[in-house]
Amino acid sequence: MDIRTLFVAVAVSNLAFALGIFLYVKGQHSVHHSIEIWGKSRFLAGMGVVLLAMRGDMLPVPFVIVTANSFVFAAVTLSVVAFKSCLERPLPKVNSASAILAGFILLWLVLLASGIPENIRLVLFTFYFSFTLLVISRDLAIGWRKNSILQKFLATITPLFAILTFVRGLVALFHPAEGVFSSNSSQVAAMLVGFVESITTSFGFLLLAKEKTDRELEAQAGTDHLTGLPNRRSFYAMAEKVISLEKRMGNPVSMLLLDLDNFKKINDRHGHDTGDRILVEFAAILRMTTRQCDFLVRLGGEEFGVLMPDTPPFSALEAAERIRLAVEDCGVEIAGERICFTVSIGVYGEESASGRDMDHYLRSADAALYRAKALGRNRVETEMPEERIEPDCLVLAEAPD
Ligand code: GH3
Ligand code: MG
Ligand code: MG
Repeated sequence: MDIRTLFVAVAVSNLAFALGIFLYVKGQHSVHHSIEIWGKSRFLAGMGVVLLAMRGDMLPVPFVIVTANSFVFAAVTLSVVAFKSCLERPLPKVNSASAILAGFILLWLVLLASGIPENIRLVLFTFYFSFTLLVISRDLAIGWRKNSILQKFLATITPLFAILTFVRGLVALFHPAEGVFSSNSSQVAAMLVGFVESITTSFGFLLLAKEKTDRELEAQAGTDHLTGLPNRRSFYAMAEKVISLEKRMGNPVSMLLLDLDNFKKINDRHGHDTGDRILVEFAAILRMTTRQCDFLVRLGGEEFGVLMPDTPPFSALEAAERIRLAVEDCGVEIAGERICFTVSIGVYGEESASGRDMDHYLRSADAALYRAKALGRNRVETEMPEERIEPDCLVLAEAPD
């Protein structure tokens, strides 16, 4: 194979990836940061190869040595950063500018040490390149068992590329090529490996980033983005299972429905952002005042729910009162002003969940909540017949004036 064709193939493929990513990123609102980094890395790699190809004929050799090597060096460094960012591994604080700068400085130091023949520079670079590939493969291999097939494939293939790149360095050390376009077999083989490596890692990286975005969207679809609590959809799927399990075990199950009082007025008086802060604060109170095994949900707007497995009605009433008092005591400090808010809670519970489904729990708790609102708000009400609740708890359920 002709070495010039391989040069063109490597340059064009990298620049095509960079252009594709650039156009994709422009048209999207939320693109994972790592894809942009990968795009920059491919651009620098492509430009580095183009500059190398123009060496001597069109551009002065010293200029090409500094620029092309720095570009390729920065590209390789950025590819590690992109993989780390995509896989959420701790990142060294490197951005594209400092990577290029570091490339320049390193190269100048090497040049200043001077007298170093070209093949030694190539050897140093290939060793660095294979080191970065090993870092990438280590990042890919962490958490092996849980990883996708794609990630396992990339974790396996990158050390192979690292070994081939290392061998390429050794070959260059003992059989230096005469010039960039020298068509000796080791130079051609090295360029071919470089081409296959760049295509494989580029496709692999983009597929990995897509896998990650898909997983994030899936998780977000079940989560309320403001409070981080599960949303109605994911809650229902979970709650149905919990209730049917508790039915089988003959355990009690209770449900709380919570609605912030006069929230429209709070929004009108203090603004929507303050309303949002209060919703976030309320979610935090819910997390603090409930057990780890309770299922919390933001049902919508300022309405929340708590499904309490293995919890008899009187315990649910105690919990509801605890939440109500915590909210009453809390308030949110915004711009030096303390804004207090309250919550009304409807409670429904069964000593044994048998014969009841999710809809029944929601309807009954909603009826209790309606009563709590009608009776003046900031109180806990229940829809359960009195004989099913222990006397102490009825007192608890009475809201103070
Ligand atoms: P009540 O005590 O009877 O529950 O009165 P309320 O004002 O709380 O109830 P209403 O249903 O009349 O108003 C609910 C308000 O909640 C209206 C809506 O603008 C506001 N709201 C819904 N979702 C959000 C949100 O995500 N952020 C903010 N800030 N407000 C929201
Ligand atoms: Mg309300
Ligand atoms: Mg409401």
